[in-house]
Amino acid sequence: MICPHCSGRIGFFSRAINGWGKKFCPHCEAPIAIGINWKLFAVLLVPFAIVFAAIATYVRIQFDLSSGKYLGPVLGAALIVVSMRLKPDERP
Ligand SMILES: [Zn+2]
Repeated sequence: MICPHCSGRIGFFSRAINGWGKKFCPHCEAPIAIGINWKLFAVLLVPFAIVFAAIATYVRIQFDLSSGKYLGPVLGAALIVVSMRLKPDERP
């Protein structure tokens, strides 16, 4: 993830963005918040849906399992993670 203030890289699992309460950039110490980039989410929705349909079809044909029902939540979560962006924290 990229800091919106200083463009410094912050690891996804960094303690700086995984703690409770206000979050601060470890580089410039400016307040940051995690948000979903809904525009990116909408753009990625179609390719993810195609991948989902392809995997679900493959899984059903290859393994004859109903495990396809787990793909929805997994891909949905992956889509949200990919769409997550850091933004300046404007809360008081
Ligand atoms: Zn920063």
